[in-house]
Amino acid sequence: MSTAVENIAAAPEEADHNRTERLFAAQQSKALSLRTSTAAERIEKLKRLRQAMFDRTEQIYKACHADFAKPAPEVDITEILPVVMEANHAIRHLKGWMKPERKRPTLLMFGTSAEVRNEPKGVCLIISPWNYPINLSFGPLVSALAAGNTVILKPSELTPHCAQLMDEIVRDIFDEDEVAVVQGAVETSQHLLGLPFNHIFFTGSPAVGKIVMRAAAENLTSVTLELGGKSPVIVDKTADIANAAKNLAWGKFANNGQTCIAPDYMYVHTDIVDSFIEAMRKAMTKLYGDQSRMESNPDYCRIVNDKHYGRVKGLIDDATQRGARVPMGGVPANDDNYIAPTLLTDVDRDSRVLEEEIFGPVLPIVPFTDTDRIIGEINAKPKPLALYVFARDNDFIEKVLTHTSAGGSCVNHSMVQFLHANLPFGGVNNSGLGNSHGHYGFKAFSHERAVVRERFSLSFLFLPPYKGFTRWFIKF
Ligand code: NAD
Repeated sequence: MSTAVENIAAAPEEADHNRTERLFAAQQSKALSLRTSTAAERIEKLKRLRQAMFDRTEQIYKACHADFAKPAPEVDITEILPVVMEANHAIRHLKGWMKPERKRPTLLMFGTSAEVRNEPKGVCLIISPWNYPINLSFGPLVSALAAGNTVILKPSELTPHCAQLMDEIVRDIFDEDEVAVVQGAVETSQHLLGLPFNHIFFTGSPAVGKIVMRAAAENLTSVTLELGGKSPVIVDKTADIANAAKNLAWGKFANNGQTCIAPDYMYVHTDIVDSFIEAMRKAMTKLYGDQSRMESNPDYCRIVNDKHYGRVKGLIDDATQRGARVPMGGVPANDDNYIAPTLLTDVDRDSRVLEEEIFGPVLPIVPFTDTDRIIGEINAKPKPLALYVFARDNDFIEKVLTHTSAGGSCVNHSMVQFLHANLPFGGVNNSGLGNSHGHYGFKAFSHERAVVRERFSLSFLFLPPYKGFTRWFIKF
């Protein structure tokens, strides 16, 4: 199949507002007819999307490579597989999810039956980021379609090849009054945010999340916000060091550290800092081969653009100027947005690398002995999207989990919470609002409508002329 993706230099700067408004109006009337859509009809759409992931695999590889040199095996694991899994899970469970949930009557509601119906929210807007461009666009699209909605999808302008490919795929398999892609940057996004959508599902930075929430407030549109932040890691002295290093090397350096749930900074128990750094070196060599040849390793992708390259390099420079050491990696001179997998130690606590979300292949290590102190430091920062703890001591693990808050956590692993279809995926406060994935994603795009049905009437107990039964219920 030929595609325009191969030839594009950049996505259209901003979308035509007239087209966007026409699409929105068309989707509003389509959404009304989708209220009665059956599970079979929705499943058919999900199968079309899933099939496109198979039919377009080569084009997805090419687009991801053109955008940030993302290696094909990583595209399989982090772009195609999550979308296919999300679709498979929804296809398998949709009938059950759509069934009204019966609720037993309470004493006060004696004589009634009750149920919760999941109804489609209506016309939904999905705004996605660049770092997993296909996964974070088509993943929520699966949930939105499963829930019976229409969708306008605005992908990130920073990955224009992926945006163009998704536009082509969507035009190929859906009518635009059901699903449409609107390409563009900030102005397009803000124009879309001015429309009275029934739900907005936004994935991106906390700063833009606030803009989205403010705009949604104008129309009292519900929002799901999947945001970011600094996700801490704690490695206790009881941890299996080799296992921790292996899982963290993958969790941190896959996608070049440009992952919302990537380990951002690490507390490593003082007793094991040296052996942990050595274990990280070994793990990196095992995963990616000789460090000195990382630059030409096709399994290691690049920083998405010059601006982000400069930003991440700036974080390393700031830390080293304040005395940090670089026991692994660094920034060799290059014109390829390449930054080696980098560890930093002796990092001044006021360094920017310990304040801003890093979103790159840099991992600062802060030694610790006092668990209460680091728990206090974590709690003093905004609540993270993820928190990882590596230890064999269960009391230590429990202490960390119960005294901190995070969107999600792994014990002795990192990042895999994203892949668990039966778990909610989402942040808390600064790292997000609401959940996605599986049944939780379906619920995010559904309105839970409470329905009470009178079966035999006991309302004479409460209606005038009053007979005092309410007092009896209050005392009961
Ligand atoms: P971003 O917030 O800059 O952009 C996300 C989307 O918002 C893009 O489509 C962009 O065009 C649009 N946008 C940007 N500025 C806007 C504005 N002023 N008004 C309206 N729309 C605007 O995020 P990004 O750089 O694409 O992605 C990185 C961020 O996303 C990181 O903070 C990361 O942690 C977070 N993230 C979170 C998750 C998650 O699931 N929680 C997943 C991936 C990334």
